[in-house]
Parts: sequence; C-alpha cells; structure tokens
Amino acid sequence: MSLNFGVLSIQGDVLENIFSVKAAIDALDIDGTVVGVRTPDEISKVDGLVIPGGESTTIGQLSMVNGSLTVLKDKIEQGMPVLGICAGMIMLSKTVQDKVVGKINQPLLDILDIKLERNSFGRQRESFESDISLNSIGIPSFNGVFIRAPSISDVGSDVEILSKFNEKIIAVKKNNIIGVAFHPELTSDISLHKYFVNLTNTLKN
Ligand code: GLN
Repeated sequence: MSLNFGVLSIQGDVLENIFSVKAAIDALDIDGTVVGVRTPDEISKVDGLVIPGGESTTIGQLSMVNGSLTVLKDKIEQGMPVLGICAGMIMLSKTVQDKVVGKINQPLLDILDIKLERNSFGRQRESFESDISLNSIGIPSFNGVFIRAPSISDVGSDVEILSKFNEKIIAVKKNNIIGVAFHPELTSDISLHKYFVNLTNTLKN
C-alpha cells in the first residue's frame, strides 16, 4: 500500500520538510508520496503528517479559521503519526507559556500532555546550533538547530523524553506523536525524518 505523507502548509518551513520527507521515503525505499496539505479535505487523506516550525500563533489561528484544527486533532487522536517541529510541537501541546509574556491565549491541538515554554532559549538573534542526541530512537548524534525554540518543563507520565539540552527537555514521544524543539529540516541529516516515515510505515501496515 502506498503511504500518503503530508506537511501542514499553513505557515512555516513547509518546502524544507517536503524535501526531507521525500528524501527519507527514497532512502528507506518505501512506497509513498509527500505533499503540502492545508484544507480539512487534504488533511483527511494523509497517513502521516509533519507540522512544521514557524509561528505557532499564526498556524493556530489560520488552521482554526479554515476548519483544519478539528480534523487534525481527530486524526492524531485516532492514531495518525505526527512529527511536530518547534511551532508544530507547540501546536500539539496542552499547556503553553511564553518565557517573556507569560500565558497567552492561542489555539492549540491540546493533545500532548506536556508543559511547554515558548521562546525558551531567547529570541531570533539568540538562535544557535548544538550537537544533541536521541539515543532511545537510534540517533546518537544530531545537529540541533534552535530558532526561537521552546522547551518542555514537565511531561505527563506516559510521555517519553527523547532528548535534553542544558537540562531542558527538547524532544518527546508518545505513541504516534513526536515533538522536537529544533529544526531537522534545516540540516542535511534526514535521520529524524526517516524515523518518522518508518514509524508511519510500521503503524499503518
Ligand atoms: N517561537 C515560535 C513560536 O512560538 C516557534 C519558533 C520556530 O518554530 N522556530 O511559535
């Protein structure tokens, strides 16, 4: 069976993720395609979805207005694999605070039991790269690109911590849901996208 992968294309790093998912499909030699998806109808057809980094308040507002927020939530709750990157991980979370402005009211998917701090490592000019590891999913070394990245201060009992940086949680997994604070699509290393494509292939077949 051919797998349909989607990258939520409302705002953010859409093309970079389409390229990375495509490269992962090819490297794993899996029968699948990847397209940008925006409308409820387009989203309803995908087997696995990347929610890219960008600006979570914009992604949240626009996906609420066009009706895709509820479809996304339903599909993920029904088990669709999802990789939430930076703003995408913020969208998945249940509880969000901004490091500077505190509590803000933004539309969220409210699915992943994590307590998250937006802009936890500072603003755009404090962006940085650092070597990180995700040992439990077979990625011992990865170049983490952090851009206005969030961190996680607390996780629910069934959420697995995949990685920490400077004592802060930066990657998590719960069953079909993966959330990372850094941007794998901005590196040439496709190992995290491969892990996601493989997870979708395993859960779907
Ligand atoms: N700080 C952004 C937000 O809160 C996320 C930044 C990113 O995705 N690179 O939405």
